[in-house]
Amino acid sequence: MNKPNQNGKYEPVSSYVIRTEKYYSYEVMEEDIKLLASIYPFVTVNVIGKSVLGKSLYELRIGKGERRVHINGSFHANEWLTSSISMQFVNDYASAVKNGQKIGGIDSMLFFEQLTLSIVPMVNPDGVELVLNGAPASHKQSIEEMNKENYEYSWWKANINGVDLNNQFPAKWEVEKERKYAKEPSPRDYPGKEPLSEPESKALAELAKKEKFDMILALHSQGKEIYWGYEGYEPAIAKEIVQEMEKVSGYKGIQYIDSHAGFRDWFIQEFQKPGYTIEVGEGVNPLPLSSFQENYQDTKNIIVSCLKGFIDKVVII
Ligand SMILES: [Zn+2]
Repeated sequence: MNKPNQNGKYEPVSSYVIRTEKYYSYEVMEEDIKLLASIYPFVTVNVIGKSVLGKSLYELRIGKGERRVHINGSFHANEWLTSSISMQFVNDYASAVKNGQKIGGIDSMLFFEQLTLSIVPMVNPDGVELVLNGAPASHKQSIEEMNKENYEYSWWKANINGVDLNNQFPAKWEVEKERKYAKEPSPRDYPGKEPLSEPESKALAELAKKEKFDMILALHSQGKEIYWGYEGYEPAIAKEIVQEMEKVSGYKGIQYIDSHAGFRDWFIQEFQKPGYTIEVGEGVNPLPLSSFQENYQDTKNIIVSCLKGFIDKVVII
Protein backbone atom coordinates (compact mmCIF):
# COMPACT_ATOMS: atom_id res chain seq x y z
CA MET A 1 0.00 0.00 0.00
CA ASN A 2 3.01 2.25 0.35
CA LYS A 3 4.17 4.64 -2.38
CA PRO A 4 7.49 4.48 -4.18
CA ASN A 5 9.88 7.32 -3.43
CA GLN A 6 11.72 9.43 -6.02
CA ASN A 7 14.09 6.57 -6.78
CA GLY A 8 11.22 4.18 -7.41
CA LYS A 9 11.81 2.33 -4.14
CA TYR A 10 9.28 1.69 -1.43
CA GLU A 11 9.88 3.35 1.90
CA PRO A 12 9.63 1.35 5.13
CA VAL A 13 6.49 1.98 7.11
CA SER A 14 8.29 4.03 9.71
CA SER A 15 9.24 6.75 7.22
CA TYR A 16 7.22 9.80 6.29
CA VAL A 17 4.39 9.22 3.87
CA ILE A 18 2.97 12.72 3.99
CA ARG A 19 3.89 14.77 0.95
CA THR A 20 4.93 17.96 2.63
CA GLU A 21 7.26 18.93 -0.18
CA LYS A 22 4.31 20.15 -2.24
CA TYR A 23 1.35 22.47 -1.89
CA TYR A 24 -1.10 20.78 0.38
CA SER A 25 -4.36 20.72 -1.52
CA TYR A 26 -7.54 18.93 -0.47
CA GLU A 27 -6.85 16.12 -2.96
CA VAL A 28 -3.31 15.58 -1.68
CA MET A 29 -4.60 15.48 1.89
CA GLU A 30 -7.37 13.05 0.99
CA GLU A 31 -4.89 10.63 -0.60
CA ASP A 32 -2.57 10.94 2.39
CA ILE A 33 -5.44 10.21 4.78
CA LYS A 34 -6.28 7.01 2.88
CA LEU A 35 -2.64 6.00 2.88
CA LEU A 36 -2.19 6.62 6.60
CA ALA A 37 -5.36 4.70 7.45
CA SER A 38 -4.18 1.75 5.33
CA ILE A 39 -0.73 1.65 6.94
CA TYR A 40 -1.93 2.29 10.49
CA PRO A 41 -5.25 0.53 11.12
CA PHE A 42 -5.53 2.18 14.54
CA VAL A 43 -5.92 5.56 12.82
CA THR A 44 -9.66 5.90 12.26
CA VAL A 45 -11.17 8.32 9.78
CA ASN A 46 -14.52 10.08 10.18
CA VAL A 47 -16.32 12.67 8.11
CA ILE A 48 -17.77 15.27 10.49
CA GLY A 49 -19.55 17.30 7.83
CA LYS A 50 -19.27 18.77 4.34
CA SER A 51 -17.97 22.10 3.14
CA VAL A 52 -20.13 24.53 1.14
CA LEU A 53 -18.89 22.87 -2.07
CA GLY A 54 -19.43 19.37 -0.68
CA LYS A 55 -15.87 18.45 0.27
CA SER A 56 -15.52 16.11 3.23
CA LEU A 57 -14.42 17.57 6.55
CA TYR A 58 -12.17 14.76 7.70
CA GLU A 59 -11.40 13.88 11.28
CA LEU A 60 -8.65 11.42 12.18
CA ARG A 61 -8.64 9.73 15.56
CA ILE A 62 -5.84 7.99 17.39
CA GLY A 63 -5.65 6.60 20.91
CA LYS A 64 -7.55 4.67 23.55
CA GLY A 65 -7.64 7.19 26.38
CA GLU A 66 -10.68 8.62 28.09
CA ARG A 67 -9.41 12.20 27.83
CA ARG A 68 -10.06 13.78 24.48
CA VAL A 69 -7.84 16.35 22.85
CA HIS A 70 -8.70 18.04 19.58
CA ILE A 71 -6.32 19.64 17.07
CA ASN A 72 -7.34 21.46 13.90
CA GLY A 73 -5.71 23.24 10.98
CA SER A 74 -6.67 25.59 8.13
CA PHE A 75 -9.62 27.40 9.66
CA HIS A 76 -8.18 30.15 7.49
CA ALA A 77 -7.63 29.46 3.79
CA ASN A 78 -4.21 31.02 3.34
CA GLU A 79 -2.86 29.23 6.41
CA TRP A 80 -2.93 25.85 4.64
CA LEU A 81 0.59 24.99 5.82
CA THR A 82 -1.11 24.08 9.11
CA SER A 83 -2.91 21.22 7.30
CA SER A 84 0.35 19.63 6.21
CA ILE A 85 1.80 20.24 9.68
CA SER A 86 -1.11 18.48 11.39
CA MET A 87 -0.97 15.59 8.90
CA GLN A 88 2.77 15.24 9.43
CA PHE A 89 2.14 15.11 13.16
CA VAL A 90 -0.39 12.29 12.70
CA ASN A 91 2.17 10.49 10.54
CA ASP A 92 4.95 10.88 13.15
CA TYR A 93 2.72 9.92 16.04
CA ALA A 94 1.21 6.87 14.30
CA SER A 95 4.65 5.71 13.23
CA ALA A 96 6.00 6.12 16.78
CA VAL A 97 3.07 4.13 18.20
CA LYS A 98 3.46 1.33 15.67
CA ASN A 99 7.21 1.06 16.25
CA GLY A 100 7.16 1.58 20.02
CA GLN A 101 9.17 4.78 19.73
CA LYS A 102 9.16 8.14 21.41
CA ILE A 103 7.75 11.28 19.88
CA GLY A 104 9.44 14.53 20.86
CA GLY A 105 11.27 12.65 23.62
CA ILE A 106 8.05 11.25 25.18
CA ASP A 107 6.88 7.64 25.05
CA SER A 108 4.18 7.65 22.38
CA MET A 109 2.31 4.87 24.20
CA LEU A 110 1.73 7.21 27.16
CA PHE A 111 -0.28 9.45 24.85
CA PHE A 112 -1.93 6.49 23.11
CA GLU A 113 -3.12 4.92 26.37
CA GLN A 114 -4.17 8.12 28.12
CA LEU A 115 -5.60 10.25 25.34
CA THR A 116 -7.85 10.06 22.33
CA LEU A 117 -6.64 12.57 19.78
CA SER A 118 -9.09 14.05 17.29
CA ILE A 119 -7.48 15.86 14.38
CA VAL A 120 -9.34 17.86 11.73
CA PRO A 121 -6.46 18.87 9.46
CA MET A 122 -8.43 21.05 7.05
CA VAL A 123 -11.47 22.90 8.42
CA ASN A 124 -11.80 25.10 5.31
CA PRO A 125 -11.05 22.93 2.24
CA ASP A 126 -12.92 25.18 -0.25
CA GLY A 127 -10.88 28.17 0.91
CA VAL A 128 -7.60 26.26 0.70
CA GLU A 129 -8.44 25.19 -2.85
CA LEU A 130 -9.23 28.80 -3.77
CA VAL A 131 -5.86 30.01 -2.49
CA LEU A 132 -3.98 27.20 -4.24
CA ASN A 133 -5.93 26.80 -7.47
CA GLY A 134 -8.13 29.86 -8.03
CA ALA A 135 -11.91 30.31 -8.11
CA PRO A 136 -14.14 27.29 -8.88
CA ALA A 137 -16.43 27.68 -11.91
CA SER A 138 -19.56 27.38 -9.73
CA HIS A 139 -18.68 30.44 -7.64
CA LYS A 140 -16.35 32.26 -10.04
CA GLN A 141 -18.36 35.44 -10.45
CA SER A 142 -19.27 36.01 -6.81
CA ILE A 143 -15.73 35.18 -5.68
CA GLU A 144 -14.18 37.62 -8.13
CA GLU A 145 -16.61 40.33 -7.02
CA MET A 146 -15.78 39.70 -3.36
CA ASN A 147 -12.09 39.83 -4.22
CA LYS A 148 -12.59 43.19 -5.97
CA GLU A 149 -11.64 41.80 -9.37
CA ASN A 150 -8.28 40.74 -8.02
CA TYR A 151 -7.43 37.29 -9.40
CA GLU A 152 -4.80 36.56 -6.80
CA TYR A 153 -6.14 34.80 -3.70
CA SER A 154 -3.10 34.50 -1.46
CA TRP A 155 -4.58 36.83 1.17
CA TRP A 156 -7.97 35.02 1.27
CA LYS A 157 -8.85 33.68 4.74
CA ALA A 158 -12.61 33.08 4.53
CA ASN A 159 -14.61 30.10 3.28
CA ILE A 160 -16.02 30.06 -0.26
CA ASN A 161 -19.05 32.13 0.87
CA GLY A 162 -16.73 34.91 2.03
CA VAL A 163 -17.34 34.22 5.72
CA ASP A 164 -14.44 34.11 8.17
CA LEU A 165 -15.00 30.74 9.88
CA ASN A 166 -13.04 31.79 12.93
CA ASN A 167 -15.38 34.74 13.48
CA GLN A 168 -18.50 32.61 13.54
CA PHE A 169 -18.77 31.26 17.06
CA PRO A 170 -21.22 32.44 19.74
CA ALA A 171 -18.70 34.15 22.04
CA LYS A 172 -19.52 37.86 21.85
CA TRP A 173 -20.20 37.37 18.15
CA GLU A 174 -22.40 40.50 18.13
CA VAL A 175 -19.49 42.61 19.39
CA GLU A 176 -17.25 41.24 16.69
CA LYS A 177 -19.87 41.78 13.98
CA GLU A 178 -20.41 45.37 15.04
CA ARG A 179 -16.81 46.41 14.97
CA LYS A 180 -15.53 44.42 12.00
CA TYR A 181 -14.74 46.45 8.96
CA ALA A 182 -16.18 43.79 6.66
CA LYS A 183 -19.99 44.15 6.60
CA GLU A 184 -20.61 41.77 3.71
CA PRO A 185 -19.01 38.58 2.32
CA SER A 186 -15.31 39.31 1.94
CA PRO A 187 -11.94 37.57 1.61
CA ARG A 188 -11.45 38.01 5.37
CA ASP A 189 -13.05 39.28 8.60
CA TYR A 190 -16.75 38.96 7.73
CA PRO A 191 -18.45 37.11 10.65
CA GLY A 192 -21.53 36.06 8.65
CA LYS A 193 -25.21 36.95 9.04
CA GLU A 194 -25.49 34.93 12.24
CA PRO A 195 -23.30 32.68 14.37
CA LEU A 196 -22.52 29.26 12.88
CA SER A 197 -24.23 30.09 9.58
CA GLU A 198 -21.57 28.12 7.67
CA PRO A 199 -21.44 24.31 7.46
CA GLU A 200 -17.75 24.19 8.36
CA SER A 201 -18.00 26.20 11.61
CA LYS A 202 -21.21 24.41 12.50
CA ALA A 203 -19.54 21.00 12.06
CA LEU A 204 -16.71 21.99 14.39
CA ALA A 205 -19.09 23.30 17.07
CA GLU A 206 -21.19 20.13 16.88
CA LEU A 207 -18.09 17.96 17.11
CA ALA A 208 -16.84 19.82 20.19
CA LYS A 209 -20.23 19.55 21.89
CA LYS A 210 -20.65 15.88 21.06
CA GLU A 211 -17.14 14.79 21.97
CA LYS A 212 -16.78 17.02 25.04
CA PHE A 213 -13.11 17.66 24.37
CA ASP A 214 -10.88 18.19 27.38
CA MET A 215 -8.51 20.47 25.50
CA ILE A 216 -8.20 21.96 22.01
CA LEU A 217 -5.33 23.30 19.92
CA ALA A 218 -6.13 25.39 16.85
CA LEU A 219 -3.25 25.78 14.40
CA HIS A 220 -3.09 29.14 12.64
CA SER A 221 -0.26 31.21 11.17
CA GLN A 222 1.65 33.39 11.76
CA GLY A 223 3.51 35.21 14.59
CA LYS A 224 5.11 32.56 16.88
CA GLU A 225 2.55 33.25 19.58
CA ILE A 226 0.22 31.08 21.65
CA TYR A 227 -3.10 32.56 22.81
CA TRP A 228 -4.46 30.79 25.85
CA GLY A 229 -7.13 32.83 27.67
CA TYR A 230 -10.61 34.14 26.99
CA GLU A 231 -12.46 36.55 29.27
CA GLY A 232 -11.29 34.76 32.42
CA TYR A 233 -13.06 31.50 31.53
CA GLU A 234 -9.75 29.62 31.14
CA PRO A 235 -8.89 27.17 33.93
CA ALA A 236 -5.77 27.66 36.09
CA ILE A 237 -3.92 24.78 34.42
CA ALA A 238 -4.09 26.60 31.06
CA LYS A 239 -1.28 28.89 32.22
CA GLU A 240 0.85 26.07 33.58
CA ILE A 241 0.60 24.13 30.34
CA VAL A 242 1.38 27.13 28.13
CA GLN A 243 4.58 27.72 30.09
CA GLU A 244 5.75 24.26 29.01
CA MET A 245 4.87 25.07 25.41
CA GLU A 246 6.83 28.34 25.54
CA LYS A 247 9.91 26.56 26.88
CA VAL A 248 10.19 24.06 24.03
CA SER A 249 9.49 26.48 21.21
CA GLY A 250 10.49 30.05 22.08
CA TYR A 251 6.93 31.03 21.12
CA LYS A 252 5.32 33.68 23.30
CA GLY A 253 2.23 32.88 25.36
CA ILE A 254 -0.39 35.63 25.38
CA GLN A 255 -3.37 35.45 27.71
CA TYR A 256 -5.77 37.89 26.12
CA ILE A 257 -6.10 39.43 22.70
CA ASP A 258 -8.78 41.87 21.63
CA SER A 259 -10.81 39.37 19.64
CA HIS A 260 -14.05 37.39 19.98
CA ALA A 261 -16.14 34.75 18.19
CA GLY A 262 -13.24 32.43 17.42
CA PHE A 263 -13.52 28.65 17.84
CA ARG A 264 -11.07 28.73 20.75
CA ASP A 265 -12.82 31.70 22.41
CA TRP A 266 -16.10 29.84 22.29
CA PHE A 267 -14.59 26.56 23.46
CA ILE A 268 -13.02 28.16 26.55
CA GLN A 269 -16.18 30.10 27.35
CA GLU A 270 -18.48 27.11 26.83
CA PHE A 271 -16.47 24.40 28.61
CA GLN A 272 -13.94 26.25 30.81
CA LYS A 273 -11.23 23.92 29.60
CA PRO A 274 -7.81 24.71 28.15
CA GLY A 275 -7.78 25.93 24.57
CA TYR A 276 -4.85 27.25 22.57
CA THR A 277 -4.35 29.05 19.31
CA ILE A 278 -0.87 28.38 17.98
CA GLU A 279 0.26 31.08 15.55
CA VAL A 280 2.80 28.99 13.64
CA GLY A 281 5.90 30.55 12.07
CA GLU A 282 6.77 34.05 11.00
CA GLY A 283 6.32 35.84 7.69
CA VAL A 284 3.58 36.55 5.19
CA ASN A 285 0.76 34.04 4.65
CA PRO A 286 0.74 31.65 2.93
CA LEU A 287 4.03 30.73 4.60
CA PRO A 288 6.47 29.29 2.05
CA LEU A 289 7.04 25.55 1.72
CA SER A 290 10.70 26.17 2.52
CA SER A 291 9.65 27.02 6.08
CA PHE A 292 7.85 23.72 6.57
CA GLN A 293 10.53 21.73 8.42
CA GLU A 294 11.34 24.44 10.94
CA ASN A 295 7.68 25.23 11.54
CA TYR A 296 6.80 21.57 11.81
CA GLN A 297 9.50 20.88 14.41
CA ASP A 298 8.37 23.83 16.53
CA THR A 299 4.70 22.81 16.26
CA LYS A 300 5.46 19.17 17.04
CA ASN A 301 7.37 20.21 20.16
CA ILE A 302 4.52 22.50 21.19
CA ILE A 303 1.89 19.77 20.72
CA VAL A 304 3.95 17.14 22.55
CA SER A 305 4.70 19.45 25.50
CA CYS A 306 1.03 20.42 25.64
CA LEU A 307 -0.13 16.78 25.72
CA LYS A 308 2.50 15.87 28.30
CA GLY A 309 1.62 18.91 30.44
CA PHE A 310 -2.06 18.00 30.22
CA ILE A 311 -1.43 14.40 31.31
CA ASP A 312 0.83 15.48 34.16
CA LYS A 313 -1.68 17.98 35.48
CA VAL A 314 -5.03 16.44 34.69
CA VAL A 315 -4.89 12.71 34.13
CA ILE A 316 -4.56 10.50 37.16
CA ILE A 317 -2.47 7.58 35.97
ZN1 LIG B 1 -5.82 32.11 11.24
